[in-house]
Amino acid sequence: MENNQDVLLKVEHLKKYYSIKSSSLRGKKSVVKAVDDISFDVKIGETFGIVGESGCGKSTMGKSVIRLIEPTEGKVILDGQDFTSLKGKELQEARDKIKLIFQDPYASLNPRMTVKDIIAEPIDIAKCYKTKEERDARVVEVMKQVGLNLDYMYRYPHEFSGGQRQRIGIARAIALQPKLIICDEPVSALDVSIQAKIINLLNELQEKMGIAYIFISHDLSVVKHIADRVGVMYLGNMMEMADTESLYAKPLHPYTQALFSAIPRIGKERIEDKQILGGDVPSPANPPKGCRFCTRCPKVMDICKTERPDFKEVEPGHFCACHLYDKK
Ligand code: SF4
Repeated sequence: MENNQDVLLKVEHLKKYYSIKSSSLRGKKSVVKAVDDISFDVKIGETFGIVGESGCGKSTMGKSVIRLIEPTEGKVILDGQDFTSLKGKELQEARDKIKLIFQDPYASLNPRMTVKDIIAEPIDIAKCYKTKEERDARVVEVMKQVGLNLDYMYRYPHEFSGGQRQRIGIARAIALQPKLIICDEPVSALDVSIQAKIINLLNELQEKMGIAYIFISHDLSVVKHIADRVGVMYLGNMMEMADTESLYAKPLHPYTQALFSAIPRIGKERIEDKQILGGDVPSPANPPKGCRFCTRCPKVMDICKTERPDFKEVEPGHFCACHLYDKK
């Protein structure tokens, strides 16, 4: 049984739908279900990985959790507080506990602000230091924590490499000592050697500050390295969720099995040993009835085309949405 005292974030039945007008439907409105009924917990100080192909809704899910975009339905409980219902000052205060790091730090850093002002911005908004000296001392402390040379303080984002810009983004994210950071593909745009340094930095900060991460990535190897537990998303749905070791050792869902089979391994297998997924990911505006994966699943059965499988605990702590594991 899970100890609720360890839970920092509880996401319950989160949905994010968009109305779109489609020319092919003669101007009729249709609904894109980018995130469709997702639930999970994140414990204090843990890293929860989210994987899936691009377009599966993982970034939309992250932005809905932090309310950068407003969820259509569902609840987000952060540190015992209903984050989804907060407004005004209360929302602003709660947002100090949860931060977001983006894939492209350059796009998220104001090009007209110096490094010092970028890092100080959340501190200034929160008004958490009484004097300018205290505020400046905090900026210095944070720059040291993320390995930024203090000589960079008065420079601008365009003067830095991708890795350094990501350090600036991380410095801004940790300035208020958040409890949770949502990392949305934080190393995807970086060279492999720089990726390792940023991942090590995130690990170090977690050890020192006890921060929890939701680590969103399409890179299964990176997620395996950093995450304690992993959720697998497909077409706006959570398909499987387990601790990292169990999931990578014994994936249960046919989609996860196909994803993992596609990880390149030097000299270990032949191409014909891999499970190559047929077909394209269906449009989220017109998803298949029943199981979302039924149009591509090598193990599809009749029931899969009409009934959506429950997301159920198949083995202790290992959840899966697939009719193969229905109790007979
Ligand atoms: Fe495949 Fe059916 Fe399981 Fe979906 S429910 S993953 S279609 S076997």
